[in-house]
Amino acid sequence: MARFTSNDVDKYGGNGGAGYFSLKGDGDSAVVRFLYNDVDDVEGYAVHEIEIDGKKRYVNCLREYNQPIDDCPFCKAKQYQIAKLFIPLYNEDEDKIQVWERGKKFFSKISGICSRYNKAPIVSQTFEIVRNGKPGDKQTSYEIYRTDEPADDTRVEDFEAPNILGSTILDKTAEDMEFYLEEGYFPPEEDEMPTRRSSRRDEEEAPRRRSSRREEPEEDVEEEEVEERPARRSASSSRGSGRRTPARGGKEF
Ligand SMILES: [Zn+2]
Repeated sequence: MARFTSNDVDKYGGNGGAGYFSLKGDGDSAVVRFLYNDVDDVEGYAVHEIEIDGKKRYVNCLREYNQPIDDCPFCKAKQYQIAKLFIPLYNEDEDKIQVWERGKKFFSKISGICSRYNKAPIVSQTFEIVRNGKPGDKQTSYEIYRTDEPADDTRVEDFEAPNILGSTILDKTAEDMEFYLEEGYFPPEEDEMPTRRSSRRDEEEAPRRRSSRREEPEEDVEEEEVEERPARRSASSSRGSGRRTPARGGKEF
């Protein structure tokens, strides 16, 4: 098993133990539970998209919409702020907790689902997601159907919810952002990396970083670039499914 420091933890296993949810082919489907109680749990994130070691990563934007642009070094550097959804879900077919990355237009769709099926916690119900669109098709859309399974007593607490902020989305300080803008990489964490900013160390690290590729979010536009990455599987599988307890059997309806 690969060993890594907390500084490198982001590069392993995806999102605090959860990989990205994706459906690759036209007509592919999966049965899932959204890890939400109700519509109030649906959260969007303002992020910046950057590259680290040639890999696309998201970084939390430090600025609320009504704050001055200087409050976030990336905004100040004219990097676009992107609104994204990272929907935590439990993939029943794969027995895994995953994160579904969607654009902000999806907000109304998932909110609509949560509002419509509000008689029981959303997580207690199963939904089928169906992909409509071939790999690479920019018009790809997803339909979400409530399955025939009655709501059960599954609760959000039954799952180890993935850490979106701090893992799926890197959470960096303004100082770290300034450093990145100058150097093209983030400084190592101070408490873990006493030799931070040593260029020799970074040279030594480089090959290992590249070999420990993490799972990429699904990108309808660039499907070719997110093909299977064998290295990530070993990292994420060591963490198990993340489900704390099996669903209790009782039915509410
Ligand atoms: Zn920003």
